[in-house]
Amino acid sequence: TDTDTADEAVRATCDDATTCKRFATSKSYWKDSYIQYFARSVGERKAPEINRGYYARVKGVNRLLDAFLRKTECSCQVINLGAGLDTTFWRLKDENLMPRKFFEVDFPTVVARKIHNIKTKPPLSRPLIETHSTDSLLLDAHSLDSDRYCIIGADLRDVSSLDEKLKKFQLNPELPTLLLSECVLVYMTPSQSSNLVHWAAETFHTAMFINYEQVNMSDRFGQVMIENLQRRQCTLAGVEACQSLESQKERFLKTGWEHADALDMMTVYSMLPQDDVARIESLEFLDERELLQQLLQHYSICWATKDRLNLGLSQLGF
Ligand code: SAM
Repeated sequence: TDTDTADEAVRATCDDATTCKRFATSKSYWKDSYIQYFARSVGERKAPEINRGYYARVKGVNRLLDAFLRKTECSCQVINLGAGLDTTFWRLKDENLMPRKFFEVDFPTVVARKIHNIKTKPPLSRPLIETHSTDSLLLDAHSLDSDRYCIIGADLRDVSSLDEKLKKFQLNPELPTLLLSECVLVYMTPSQSSNLVHWAAETFHTAMFINYEQVNMSDRFGQVMIENLQRRQCTLAGVEACQSLESQKERFLKTGWEHADALDMMTVYSMLPQDDVARIESLEFLDERELLQQLLQHYSICWATKDRLNLGLSQLGF
C-alpha cells in the first residue's frame, strides 16, 4: 500500500543519518568509535557543508543532553524516539554519563537490524553485558532489555501502545526524563507529533524534550529541500509544524510543557566552542559559505522542560 511505501522511505532515512555521520567522523569532525559497526563502509564523499551541518547537529544535541545528565547527576532516564542506528548510549557509557536506563524506540524492522548488529559485534554488546547485574538479559530478534539499555520496536504514532511497551520494560515516570527526537517528528502529521509530545508532558512531571529538525520551510530553499525528499518517496508530513521557531515552541507550550526555547542551527553553530569550530573548518575547504548558512538556517533545535522537582531545567541551554 501507499502507507507501507511511505513508511519504508521513512525507515530508510536512518541509513542516511548513519552514513553521513560515519563519513563526517572518518574526516575527524568528531569522534565516534561505534558508528563503524552500524555502517559497513565509509561510503561516498559528502559535501563539506553537509559535514559541518552534521557536526552542528551532533554537538548541539549532545550539549543539551549532557547538560541534562549533569544537572540530574545521571539519576534519570533517556528515551531516544526514532533512534535509528544512533550510538549515543555507547558514548555516554564511555564518558561516565550513563543514565539509570537508556531507552530507544524505532519501527520494529529498524530495531531488528540494530539488535542484529549489537548481537554480532562484541564492542556493542560488551557494554550491555558489563552493566547488567543478572543472567536474565533479554535478547531476541525483536527486543533487547538489559539493566541500563533497552530497545523497543513501536510506532510513535500509536502513543498508547508506546506507553504500554515502555512501562513493560520498567520505564519509571517518577524519574527525571530526557526525551530526544532527532529528525523524527517531521515524518508525522502535526497532530501525531503533538499527541506524542503531549503524552510525554502528561507522563513525566520532571522532563526535558529535545527536538532537532527542519525549520523555516516555507521559503524557496525549504521548498527545494522538500522536493528532494519527495523524489525519494519521502514525505515530510509534519512540515507545517516546521514553519518557524515560534511554531516549534508552540507545539510544546500548547501540550503541557512549561518552558520552551528554539534556535536555528546557524545560531547554534555560532554558539559552539569556537576553537573546535575553527578546527573543523580547517578540515575541508568550503567554497560557498552562503550555502552553509542557508542550510543551517533550515534546521533547528527546540527544547522544552517541565520541572516539578525544581532542578533548574529551564536554565539549560546554550
Ligand atoms: N534519530 C536518528 C539519528 O538522528 O541518527 C535517526 C534519524 S532518521 C532521519 C529517522 C528515524 O525515525 C528512522 O530510524 C525512522 O525509522 C524513525 N521513525 C520515523 N517515524 C517513526 C514512527 N512513526 N515510529 C517509529 N520510528 C519512526
